[in-house]
Amino acid sequence: MRCPNCGNSDDKVIESRTLAAGDAIRRRRECVGCGNRFTSYERIEDKHFMVIKQSGRREPFEREKIERGVRRALEKRPVSQRSIENLINEIEDEAAMLGKDDNEISAGVIGDLVLEKIGSLDKVAYIRFASVYRQFKNLEEFVREINKMEEHSIKNQNK
Ligand SMILES: [Zn+2]
Repeated sequence: MRCPNCGNSDDKVIESRTLAAGDAIRRRRECVGCGNRFTSYERIEDKHFMVIKQSGRREPFEREKIERGVRRALEKRPVSQRSIENLINEIEDEAAMLGKDDNEISAGVIGDLVLEKIGSLDKVAYIRFASVYRQFKNLEEFVREINKMEEHSIKNQNK
């Protein structure tokens, strides 16, 4: 969401709350560029889009499904509830953005999105999620995945 102060489109969701009527979400956001905090309102109807499963079947996007997977991967990890909540919000937001034009998004794109986000938060959770999501066929694949993650984190450190 574009920062009203500096125009940067990169922001963090600090807090999100469904309004009493249940038809909108209010989010406090912080601009990564200048630190400015602002509020956004999103109509929940706007988030209705379909997920194309690997089988080709379509089903409505459900935040709860992502939430379940993310929470399972992060079980007993030293990550705060707020960080988890933010992570899920970010995934939902980005999936909604990606799915907006066609009103649908492939399950693979969502899975990759979750992997990327979890990887930046917790390595163990990343492996857990990846092992379920990708269903490693053998040790080699598993090792490849770990190497990919290492490369990714080195890249991020150099940013
Ligand atoms: Zn800004």
